[in-house]
Parts: sequence; C-alpha cells; structure tokens
Amino acid sequence: MTIESRQDFEAKITTWLAERRQDMIDLLEVLVNIDSGSYDKSGVDAVGTAVRTFLEGEGIACETLAIENKGDALRAVVAGSGGSANRVILLMGHRDTVFSRGEAAKRPFTIEGGRAYGPGVADMKAGVVMNSFLLAAFAKFGGAPAPMVGLFTGDEEIGSPTSRPIIEAEARNALAVFNSEPGRPTGNIVTGRKGGVFFRCDVTGKAAHSGANFQQGVSAIEELARKIQSWHRLTDLDKGQTVNVGLISGGQSVNTVAPSATCDIDLRYVEPGDRDEIVNAVMNIAHTSSLAGTSAEIAIMGEFRPMKPSAEADALFERYVASAAEAGLSIEGEFSGGCADSGFAAGVGAPTLCGVGPVGGKAHSAEEYLELDSLVPRAQAAALTILRLNT
Ligand SMILES: [Zn+2]
Repeated sequence: MTIESRQDFEAKITTWLAERRQDMIDLLEVLVNIDSGSYDKSGVDAVGTAVRTFLEGEGIACETLAIENKGDALRAVVAGSGGSANRVILLMGHRDTVFSRGEAAKRPFTIEGGRAYGPGVADMKAGVVMNSFLLAAFAKFGGAPAPMVGLFTGDEEIGSPTSRPIIEAEARNALAVFNSEPGRPTGNIVTGRKGGVFFRCDVTGKAAHSGANFQQGVSAIEELARKIQSWHRLTDLDKGQTVNVGLISGGQSVNTVAPSATCDIDLRYVEPGDRDEIVNAVMNIAHTSSLAGTSAEIAIMGEFRPMKPSAEADALFERYVASAAEAGLSIEGEFSGGCADSGFAAGVGAPTLCGVGPVGGKAHSAEEYLELDSLVPRAQAAALTILRLNT
C-alpha cells in the first residue's frame, strides 16, 4: 500500500469511527441489558445473536461454531486488501460475564457523568462493541493488510474450557492478535499476564463419633489443613509464583471426625517453562498423605496460559503506542497477574496485545464502569495499528 492510500484509509476509518459514537453506545446498551453469565448458554447466545445481527447488517459474513452447554463461538471474517491471505488479524472478545440471571434487570445500563454502568459494561461488552465496529469500518472502507477475523466467545470467565482450542487454532495463523479486554483505569494496555491453573482437591478420611469412638476416625479436615500449609509454602513472590487455597469445605457435623474435605486451589506463575514443575508440586502434595488412613484426589478444573512478552509482541506494542498517540492517547504497557484468553493466543506464538478495549474499572463488581469517551479513541488506536501492520 502506498503512503497516500494508507493515509486515505486512515482518514476515512478514523472519521467514520468518530461519527459512530452514539451507535456504539446504543449497541452497548443492548448487550449489557442481556444477562450472559458463563453458564447461561441462552443468554450468552442471545448476545451473540445481537452481535451477529449488527455485523450482518454491515455486510459481514458470520459463522456460528456450535458449542454444547456453553455459549457458541461467533466468527466473523472481513477480507483484506492485498497483502497476506494466509495470515489473519485476530480481534478477540468474550460475551460472557460473571453475573447471574436477573442482574441486568436489577441494574440495567445507565449513564452518569460520562461513565456507563451495568453488568459486563467494561468486561467486556464494550470491547465486543469496539471489535464489531472495527470489523464494520474495515468491511466498509477496506485497507486491512490481511483478512480480519473477529472471534466472539462465550466462556472466558470460567477459563474458556470450550473456546480455548478455537482461539488457539485461529491464533496460530495470526500476524497480530488484539484482545479487547478493558483498558486499565490509567488507560494502559496489558503486555504480560500470569498463567493460572485452578485445581480441586477432595480428601477422604474416616467418619467416627468424636466423643464415643474418636480413635476410630481419620480426619479429612486435619489432612486438608496440613496440605494447605504445604501448598501455601510453594508461593515464591520473587518468581511471581503464588498458590492460594481460596475455597474450603468439609465435614459432616461438629461431633463427627470429618470423613471428607474439599478445597479449590489457584496457582499463578509467570514463566511458561515453570508450569509443569509447580503443577507437579501441587499434585504431589495432594497425593502424599500426612495423616495415615487418608487419601486424596486432585484435578485441574481450568487453566490459562501466561502471556509472555516476545520480540514480535514488543514490536506490535510499539506500533500500537505510536498509533494511539495519533488518536490522542498516551499509553504504556502493564503486567497483570490476572489471566485472560490472550494467554492462549500468545501461548501458540502469536504477537498479542491485551486490554486494548475501551477503558473501565471495578470489573466483576456492582461498581463496574466504562469511560464512554474512550470508545472512539480506543477503536481508532486499534484501527491505525491494523493499517500499519507489516504483512
Ligand atoms: Zn474479561
């Protein structure tokens, strides 16, 4: 593409996006007012239908990848203008939220003092809206140096158990991945994330009356308590490695030696190469009885890969920072201990940026907010970056 034609695309697309501000807010209102908790398939799919209706109205081809029990994945494709046909520019967003049915009726989409509120308004229905308008802009004007794929998935908040293979397959062909999780409250984007592994461990002991037959019992609670101490000792803050038992339950009654106990464990780490060693350490503690007569089973319930910076990702970040500056934004990269789908994309080697969505805060709480004035410039920053990608 010549510089003149690129500048022509840039002007047309950034102007069009600026003119769509109210349309973006209108679509956001529709999406926020649909309950779409991760386990609410019909709600997550209803959000997908609303997105698909918008995209098809803009002449964009969509396909639905059916998923049992969780929200279907929606995949939209916009042709590129020359350049590479084999590699794609991937825009990712999840349609599910952490809120259960009835939340939207309780606190529907509202606007107050330049901020929008409502369940999932920032995390990440605003990002879904932004990606939809980016696809629409490039469908209308062209200029993308490679085909663009918009992937709208439905189970990120529970670790993307069904979306992960879809994301990884798409990311393997991607020359750049933009995950439109909300920008940090500072406006910064996310250039690195920890990996996370979520375990459940069930401990079995032996029930007995704690008064009459105390010595015949074997306490699963005592065994679990000892294991918890061992797990927590695996934490190594210098390495950014943490183990947190966040949930426990167990026992039968106060006067029974506990026959069973269960916990959920959250492991976070930074270096992809550290994963197996620390996972094995967690497993070994589960499988080693400290109290004779107990046994335990442990399973991985969900997992996110770390997003580790790479030379290619750094170059993409530099391009993004320069593009954002032209959209009037001053952006830095941040590391986050939180996990997201961007880790799966980065894990298969795709240059990936996360948190490029509109800016918001207090996600997963009733105070969650979105800065409405960030909708247009964040979309423009992503658009300018896409136009300047090397293919
Ligand atoms: Zn999110």
